[in-house]
Amino acid sequence: MLPPDSPLLSAAPVFDDADRAWMARALELAAHARDAEGEVPVGAVLVLDGAMVGEGWNRNITLNDPTAHAEIQALRAAGQALSNYRFPGATLYVTLEPCAMCAMAMVHARVARVVFGATDPKTGAAGSVFDTLVSPRHNHRVAVAGGLQAEAAGDMLRAFFRARR
Ligand SMILES: [Zn+2]
Repeated sequence: MLPPDSPLLSAAPVFDDADRAWMARALELAAHARDAEGEVPVGAVLVLDGAMVGEGWNRNITLNDPTAHAEIQALRAAGQALSNYRFPGATLYVTLEPCAMCAMAMVHARVARVVFGATDPKTGAAGSVFDTLVSPRHNHRVAVAGGLQAEAAGDMLRAFFRARR
């Protein structure tokens, strides 16, 4: 066990009730993707000043669009809602670790913080496979915290792919 003053322990993400509530909403959207459209269950919510400004879920098949990941959908919805393309101060909640495409979109959008659920050992770009979201080379830094309700998000994905085999 790590000593209580270990820097590794203090670096562990800290989540509050609002984080948990927004991630619960993202999980609902993930279930919606699966149930309503047969899409891979990933959901995302963009929150600014305590309010939802954009929601999204995977819609690649439905829209015939390789870029229609949950995060992109949430960013696009927020852009329309706010008539802006940058969201400084916003937090993006997503049930799965973002891919490189979505990570870069978040950097372009000046999102302040990303909270994700399950890690993605195949395409994750918050450190699992690529470091896109956490690279110090960007001119904009995004705070990243992973692992919130990771089990629920991961279970949903595993069950989805198991059922399709
Ligand atoms: Zn993505």
